[in-house]
Amino acid sequence: MKNKHINEIEIQQYVLAKDDCDIVIVEHINHCQKCKAEAEIYELLFAAIKKEQNPVFKFDIANLVMQRLPEKQNFSFDKYLIALLSTVSIAILSILIYLTNKYFPTVFNGISSIQFLLIMVTVLLISIFIYIDMNRNYKNQMNFC
Ligand SMILES: [Zn+2]
Repeated sequence: MKNKHINEIEIQQYVLAKDDCDIVIVEHINHCQKCKAEAEIYELLFAAIKKEQNPVFKFDIANLVMQRLPEKQNFSFDKYLIALLSTVSIAILSILIYLTNKYFPTVFNGISSIQFLLIMVTVLLISIFIYIDMNRNYKNQMNFC
């Protein structure tokens, strides 16, 4: 018999699995009133926990949550907005080029058409890459909401 009382964890082990328990612990509990009483309290507690049924909501929690979740956003509004902004930007740029061309008639005469084409292709490629990147980031963010 151990001189010291056995600790809480050992008592719990004894209550939950008497067969696998260390013989020293079993002996101690059989002879010590205090530890035996504690073991009985744990037995009552575990029995009560087993009896307690899992809490069940009286309403359909999944359904309620699903209703609250925002519907997957429709992309049509964003597409219209992008199209509108692009159109406005192109219109403003065209007007500016038209207006400034009057004052600087040689602005676009200085570069050859091949240079102009290279600039346009570069701008277009960069724009496409930026759009793809933005779109991917947006979709990633929407997935985690
Ligand atoms: Zn004891």
